[in-house]
Amino acid sequence: MTHQVHIIGGGMAGSEAAWQLARRGIRVRLSEMRGGGDTTAAHNSDGLAELVCSNSFRSDDDEKNAVGLLHYEMRQCDSLLMAAAAKARVPAGSALAVDRDVFSAEVEAALRAQPTLELVRERVDALPSEGLTIVATGPLTAPTLANSIGSATGADSLAFFDAIAPIVYRDSINMDVAWMASRWDKGAEASLAMGGDGRDYINCPMNKEQYLAFREELLAGEKTEFKEWEADTPYFDGCMPVEVMAARGVETLRFGPMKPVGLDNPHWATDEHPNGRWPYAVVQLRQDNKLGTLWNMVGFQTKLKHAEQVRVFRTIPGLENAEFARLGGLHRNTFLNSPTLLDRQLRLKSAPHIRFAGQITGCEGYVESGSVGMLAGLMTAAQVAGREWSPPPRTTALGALLAHITGDAEAENYQPMNVNFGLFPPLHDVKKKARKEAYTERAKAEISGWVSTLA
Ligand SMILES: Cc1cc2nc3c(=O)[nH]c(=O)nc-3n(C[C@H](O)[C@H](O)[C@H](O)COP(=O)(O)OP(=O)(O)OC[C@H]3O[C@@H](n4cnc5c(N)ncnc54)[C@H](O)[C@@H]3O)c2cc1C
Repeated sequence: MTHQVHIIGGGMAGSEAAWQLARRGIRVRLSEMRGGGDTTAAHNSDGLAELVCSNSFRSDDDEKNAVGLLHYEMRQCDSLLMAAAAKARVPAGSALAVDRDVFSAEVEAALRAQPTLELVRERVDALPSEGLTIVATGPLTAPTLANSIGSATGADSLAFFDAIAPIVYRDSINMDVAWMASRWDKGAEASLAMGGDGRDYINCPMNKEQYLAFREELLAGEKTEFKEWEADTPYFDGCMPVEVMAARGVETLRFGPMKPVGLDNPHWATDEHPNGRWPYAVVQLRQDNKLGTLWNMVGFQTKLKHAEQVRVFRTIPGLENAEFARLGGLHRNTFLNSPTLLDRQLRLKSAPHIRFAGQITGCEGYVESGSVGMLAGLMTAAQVAGREWSPPPRTTALGALLAHITGDAEAENYQPMNVNFGLFPPLHDVKKKARKEAYTERAKAEISGWVSTLA
């Protein structure tokens, strides 16, 4: 069977993309290296769509939760992953958790039953020079293919190590304590050119006592252990975990990410110092999305356990009530600087016959990866049929995630991202308490119209 579309990688994204194409009668070759003599450092089986770690697709609450809403929208698009999850579901409260073996078997059986799909157990070592292709090889893309992708995109564009700092919702930061400023008021011109007002960072001040106590918390906090296969991976200069820096000396953080110089705190203004004084140490947050709803903690990549991060980081003045859109972490990852390299249809600008899908595009998590695979499949199906593609509305979870990946995220500091309400166009007029429901109601009202445009 000669194929119309070649999909490389039979994980979460590749399996969903293959389903969306094959069920529309399009001939697909799905290449998966596991089962053909290769594996990755995290997979344990040869099954398609293997969940490598947790067995949870997180919250299934589609009224107040962004990932639950993503489940809902995927179901509207007849997602294979959501159908398989329903069959493999195990009790887990409001979370959607599955028996991973049943889940993988369901996905594989559904794909094998498609007459236009050919599943080939083979490793692909280079990006095809022609033919519609979807690359969905995930965070642990085989090194030979990763090199080929690196050559096609520029070596600097493919990150091999994922240093994630926490991201905080802007409206949960206490601005009676924190304040906006750039160090020494530098970069005002560049800021104005970008639509800013020259005060680009949110600064959280600490006095000496607070700084010393905070450092102790970082040192004592419970850490995630490195996996065996990660142990040899060196820390790069730019992604040293904050607790490793803290362990190097009392002052290391004050000369690193918590440097206070050039940052007058106006909340500490006096007659003698009308502009305020420099704090003893400062935690800075930088805008993470164009909407200005998400702010990342600069230099705060960390291996602290998630619950510890919430506890310790809420001791930072101004972040007492911080809500986190994403918590920090550090693991090997292969992902593109998608906002720079991909067009709005996930195509490599320099080689538009190639689409990327799944975690390699810089989304994070099983569900997000599956949903981006689904979108890649739907886009490719439209292309094969010669139909114009209309993207999902920006107000839906699918639309918000896609817009983030393909252009709305800040390209310079692009890091993997879970779906969250901070990616949605804000609803400032709605009271904070009712906002999550308002986001999901708006999305649900708009998704069905868009789904009806899909053939
Ligand atoms: C250690 C670890 C733990 C994780 N834990 C979680 C978690 O608990 N929850 C969560 O939501 N997410 C977790 N993730 C993220 C998760 O892996 C992804 O969200 C999701 O699996 C990505 O889907 P994907 O389809 O992009 O990649 P994958 O699901 O990894 O699929 C990629 C597929 O491509 C194949 N492949 C790779 N290279 C080639 C090649 N050259 N030729 C042919 N086939 C190839 C691989 O064998 C694999 O089957 C974790 C990731 C890692 C690395």
